[in-house]
Amino acid sequence: MFDKILIANRGEIALRVIRACREMGIASVAVHSTADSDAMHVRMADETICIGPPPSINSYLSIPAIISACEVTGAQAIHPGYGFLSENARFVQIVEDHGLTFIGPTAEHIRTMGDKITAKDTMKALGVPCVPGSEGGVPDLDTARTVGEEIGYPVIVKATAGGGGRGMKVALDATGMEHAFHTARSESKAAFGNDEVYIEKYLTTPRHIEIQVFGDGKGGAVHLGERDCSLQRRHQKVFEEAPGPCITAEERARIGKTCADAVAAINYTGAGTIEFLYENGDFYFIEMNTRLQVEHPVTEGIFGVDLVREQIRVASGLPMSFSQDDLKINGHAIEVRINAEKLPNFAPSPGRITQYHAPGGLGVRMDSALYDGYRIPPYYDSLIGKLIVHGRDRPEALARLNRALGELIVDGVDTTIPLFHALLQDPDIHAGTYNIHWLEKWLEQALQQG
Ligand code: ADP
Repeated sequence: MFDKILIANRGEIALRVIRACREMGIASVAVHSTADSDAMHVRMADETICIGPPPSINSYLSIPAIISACEVTGAQAIHPGYGFLSENARFVQIVEDHGLTFIGPTAEHIRTMGDKITAKDTMKALGVPCVPGSEGGVPDLDTARTVGEEIGYPVIVKATAGGGGRGMKVALDATGMEHAFHTARSESKAAFGNDEVYIEKYLTTPRHIEIQVFGDGKGGAVHLGERDCSLQRRHQKVFEEAPGPCITAEERARIGKTCADAVAAINYTGAGTIEFLYENGDFYFIEMNTRLQVEHPVTEGIFGVDLVREQIRVASGLPMSFSQDDLKINGHAIEVRINAEKLPNFAPSPGRITQYHAPGGLGVRMDSALYDGYRIPPYYDSLIGKLIVHGRDRPEALARLNRALGELIVDGVDTTIPLFHALLQDPDIHAGTYNIHWLEKWLEQALQQG
């Protein structure tokens, strides 16, 4: 087992990893930019090291700075968290070339899944059901039009290198194709430096269901059921729950086994998430994330396992601490993402926290790096906390969420907390009958009603 781990991240996820390290008796090293000198992850880690100025590109994304930080502190392994360098295959290669351990999958797995066309081809070959679409990349508008006719409108043009909901445009019919194709390409070029796009059938009422998988890197793998992340704004998740309100035990066992077998077949190491759209009882693969997800705590809640601890164990060469038969679902868990954003437009709202009070009590987990007087810097993601609740069943979890939100105080900046108070008033949330478009429509109506 490692003696010391460096966490190449910040915010709540850095704290999450520090906590796992501490419970395992492993020393933690926090890295930080000059804008984060007073951040909670810096206060909580055993050692800290400044790696550069505020812009991520010069600090949290600076590979030389992070490798040097490992060498200076003697850390043997790097946990990347999510975002930043977590899905950067070149980084993983460099980490390994320096004799360090990357806590996550191999560079090759990251590369394969990071290119969405290769990922889809790989999954298809492994027997995972996929959304009907183009065979590989679509080089020009004429080909795009032909594909549109073949698979039938509406279609969605997506960036091969895409992520974070960017570089995706819907063409409702043939006349919309030109705009969708060019916009997706130019957005993709601007965001990812790669303008390759592909086309998929656009599903009109799907749910976003993702399967948590975990591999030991030696051909063993398990699944930890699904998370329903259908409540999205601009393709970004805001509310996640497990188990999925519409998924039956039989469906879970079937798709879960397909996913576990697929990652076992490629000797996948560590945590991964296979994302699907789910419509009329069918699953359609859209992408695989080769890292820990923001919403992993809902899975931890219902299975009672620590996924970060497990990542560290497996990266150090130990076997997984659970088998498929050990994994039994207990109750229901929900996570809401609290962002420092001003409603109704979700404009970033950095600034000083004048008062922070975290909710507590049975079945409540608040993962946040906030504290009284903390100044949220304007340079990074606006996620400031995740409130996760666990109950014996879904109604209990919803009641607990309502109660916990009532206790939560974040003063000094605007946050998305009022959104969740309002959502909990809606009968569709209680019935669990929402799809990936529900929230956008609900927000539009809320805006019209002022
Ligand atoms: P990203 O990597 O940018 O997050 P994904 O491929 O995971 O992109 O898709 C993100 C979201 O976009 C999905 O959860 C869904 O809401 C929407 N989406 C993606 N593909 C389709 C599709 N074929 N039909 C309908 N919606 C889609």
